[in-house]
Amino acid sequence: MNTHTLHVRPIDDLIEHDTSTEEPNCLCGPTVKPVKQDDGSMGWLIVHASLDGRELV
Ligand SMILES: [Zn+2]
Repeated sequence: MNTHTLHVRPIDDLIEHDTSTEEPNCLCGPTVKPVKQDDGSMGWLIVHASLDGRELV
């Protein structure tokens, strides 16, 4: 079964986020969530954190 990995990252963040791999090995320590896709298969959503704390606001 195909799995897909999507990256969600803050725009214009202070650091470069590594969205080139299917592993959550970015500097920011991303959160990985399973997501069900439109075709019913499961994928992974890699949610990158912004280092300036924007998501806490
Ligand atoms: Zn990141």
